[in-house]
This record gives sequence, C-alpha cells and structure tokens, in this order.
Amino acid sequence: MSSDMRVVIVGASLAGLRAADELRRLGFDGPLTIVGDEPYEPYDRPPLSKAVLLGIMPPEHATLPARTDLDAKWRLGVPATALDLEDNRVVLGDGDSVPFDKVLLTTGVRARPWPKPEESDLDGVFTVRTLDDSRRLDERLSAGPGHVLVIGAGFTGSEIASVCRERGLSVTVTERGPAPLVGALGGVVAAVAADMQRDHGVDLRCGITVARLEGDGQGRLRRAHLSDGTALDVDVAVVAQGSIRNTEWLAGSGLAAGPRGVACDAGCRAFDLNGLVTDNVFVAGDIARQPHPLYDYQLIALEHWGNAIGQAEVAAHNMIHEGLHRRPHLDIPAFWSSQFEVNIKSVGIPTYSDQVVVSQGSVEERRFVAAYGFRGRLTAAVAFNHGRWLDFYRGLIESAAAFPPDFAVMDRTDPWEVRSSELPDPAILSHGPTVSVTGHLPTERHVEFVSAPK
Ligand SMILES: Cc1cc2nc3c(=O)[nH]c(=O)nc-3n(C[C@H](O)[C@H](O)[C@H](O)COP(=O)(O)OP(=O)(O)OC[C@H]3O[C@@H](n4cnc5c(N)ncnc54)[C@H](O)[C@@H]3O)c2cc1C
Repeated sequence: MSSDMRVVIVGASLAGLRAADELRRLGFDGPLTIVGDEPYEPYDRPPLSKAVLLGIMPPEHATLPARTDLDAKWRLGVPATALDLEDNRVVLGDGDSVPFDKVLLTTGVRARPWPKPEESDLDGVFTVRTLDDSRRLDERLSAGPGHVLVIGAGFTGSEIASVCRERGLSVTVTERGPAPLVGALGGVVAAVAADMQRDHGVDLRCGITVARLEGDGQGRLRRAHLSDGTALDVDVAVVAQGSIRNTEWLAGSGLAAGPRGVACDAGCRAFDLNGLVTDNVFVAGDIARQPHPLYDYQLIALEHWGNAIGQAEVAAHNMIHEGLHRRPHLDIPAFWSSQFEVNIKSVGIPTYSDQVVVSQGSVEERRFVAAYGFRGRLTAAVAFNHGRWLDFYRGLIESAAAFPPDFAVMDRTDPWEVRSSELPDPAILSHGPTVSVTGHLPTERHVEFVSAPK
C-alpha cells in the first residue's frame, strides 16, 4: 500500500507498538514516527508486578518484540506537550514538532502518587508502573526489608503483596474498602480474595486508610500512621492507589479529553469537545473511552492488556481504510492476574452487574467460576484457577444470554445461590478502578418537558 500519508503515534508502549506493527503488517509503507517519553524501547508491564518483582525475570526480558520490520522514526525520551489540530502537528518537549496526516494517541496512564510530596519523597516509598519502578522495588525487596506496607488492595497492590509473601517478607495491606479486589469483582468474590491473602500470612486491614507516612529525620521511611490510630514500623511502602490518565498534554487540543480518558467511537476515532467524531485522530489502550453495544453503549475505559492490543489493531486498520471498510472494536473485555497461587481470569465487565452466582467448582478449593448478571442478562464471568471455562462464558456473554445462566456443566454448584454482587461505591476504595463505565443507563434517563412561562 504505497502512501505519502504521514502517521504519528504518541506513546511508545503496548498499544503504540502494536498499532505500528499492524500498520506495517497491513502494508502501509508511508512515513511513521513513534514518540515516547520513556527512554526505553516498548516493554510489557504485567511482569512488573509479578515475575520481574519476584526477581525471576530480568527486567530487560520484558521488552516487547515487534512482529514486523517497523521502519519507523523513534523519538524516545521526549514527551509530546501539545496536539495542534489546526496545523496537524504534535508539539514535543524539546521544542521540535512533528507534522502528521493521521495521529494515534496511546499515552496510557501513570501511577497515582502518594498525595503528600514530602512523604512520597521519602526513601522507601514506591509506586509500580514503569520498568524503573519495578527494578528499584525489586532491589529494595531483595535487600530484605523488615516490614512492607502496601497501600491499596486492587490488582497491582494485591499482586505486590503476593510477591512479598513469596519472598518470605512480612507485609501489611491496607484498603479503605471492605475487601481486596472488591472494586473490580464485587463483595462475594472479593471475600475469597481476602481469605487468600490472610491464608498466605498477609496482615490485611480493610476499612483502614494510611493517614501519614513518617520519616526518620534523614529522609528514610520509618513508620506509617493508620486511620484507626495505630502505627506500623515499615521500611517500604508501596502506594497502589490506581492511576491517572495521561491526557493533560491534550488540553487545548479541542478533543473530548480529560481525567477519564479520551472519548472515541467504536472505531477508535477520537471525539472532539462537541461530540463530533474526528477523522484523523485515533486513540487506543488505557487512555481510550469507547462505547460497547453489550454494555448499553456506555463509554468504557479499560486498563487491560488485551484491550490495548485489540484497540491498537482496529485503530491501525481504520487509519488506512475509509467508510464501510472500517472496523469496530467489539472484543469482550478480558484480563488476568496471578496472586497467592491463584490464576484469576475474567471476561466481560464484572462491575456491570447487580447479581452473581458461583456457577461452577468450589470456593473452598479456590477453583471456581462466578457468573455476573445485570437485569437478567449475563455480563461477565470470573474464574479462580478455572480459566479453561471462560471461552464458554464469553460465547454466552456475546449472545446476551439470560442471567442466571441455565446450563448443564460438569461441576455445576449445588445449591445454586444467586446473590447481590455487592459492588461498593468506587469513591470509598483506596485504589482507583481498572475498569470505569461512565454514562447513564437508558432506563435512568429522565427527560422533563417544561412548558414555556406564560
Ligand atoms: C504493574 C502492572 C501490571 C499489570 N498487569 C496486568 C495483567 O496482569 N493483566 C492485564 O490485562 N493488564 C495488566 N496491566 C495493564 C496493562 O499493562 C496495560 O493495560 C497496558 O500497558 C496499556 O498499554 P498502553 O499502551 O495503552 O499504555 P501504557 O502501557 O501506559 O503506555 C503509555 C506510554 O505512553 C507514554 N506517555 C505518556 N504521556 C506521554 C506523552 N505526553 N508523550 C509521549 N509519551 C507519553 C508513557 O510513558 C508510556 O510509555 C498491568 C499494568 C501494570 C502497570
């Protein structure tokens, strides 16, 4: 596909690399520039809270391979600071700018830092989002700290606590919500996650926040003060309170970009501030908010590896195709996590639910599937050490199957107990959500006709 079209990708990570790869695989041979603020070639993040942190995977092995000869101009170690849609240029932090005909935004998210800078600057306070973060924390954990505190029990915090226990380190986890993972999986399944942590020797404290981190007078972390008035002597605190979307650089661009991400259509074309779809600005990965027909067309932002890949491929396809030849991104969301010897896998959106039933296996054995439903429709399934069943549930979700599901399977639970999925208000959690669904349900829309004053 011979082309003079200039493509710029901003964000040199999973989504950016996969989109570049896909453009070349589809035959696009025009000029391609990839801008990334990190100094490294694209690398994979899931191992950063798992194998890299356990010290069993050298950080350099996390590098993501390209499937094709990319033939791209890399601008690494320099941030994009603005998007000029009048002149079609990406402005860079070094004063340069890169012109484009089509641009793809994949600037993802960053870790939410501890809110008090004088405390987050203490030696011993960490977040985990980048290769350098993971490398530094691995070094510190290898040095054998006396006690580790993990603040926030979402997926990242729980995985880090699991690594600590695998390394034989003493660890406390604090979570403002009622259980670990409750914001992603609801209270019924999160109760199992809480048992897992405690069985593995984690000092889990729910309904608790960290009020203050205290230094030793020489810049090193010494103690954490908790909201219940107690204090803990700690050498390491890992702040795992969710993420912030990297959208600030798009301020003034005229795009519908903000703290919740960049809104786009199902074909990954960004919306402008007026809700008009653009034709030359595309968005993919953790930064994107996209409607999905199975979830009532609400805008959904997903911090999932598979979503970044799927959207990147659709965005690349649509950048070089027009009209009816464009494709929608309709994949069913899916993610995985491994912690405390359990492989957790999910399809659909568990938080898009009002009810849950443990449909297969046994909670006691930590080998089960929980099916989630919303207003009589199956919307998600989560497996603990039972992932081989998830393709079956994916098929049911795709066909809008009824909930509670009615099927004969090998190890169907008995009794079949349908319960509330017990989703907490996200505002009460220590950690931000990895999935956020924003918008109103069709049934919740109220239109009020007000007659004109006489
Ligand atoms: C520790 C950890 C563990 C994870 N584990 C799992 C897992 O088990 N399962 C799962 O499904 N998902 C997991 N994820 C999530 C998954 O890694 C992300 O969904 C994925 O990385 C998203 O890719 P992305 O390219 O959209 O964004 P990112 O990977 O965040 O990349 C965005 C890139 O853009 C750069 N950037 C930001 N602003 C600018 C700018 N202004 N100019 C230039 N560059 C910029 C960033 O520095 C970064 O390099 C994990 C994530 C982390 C951090």
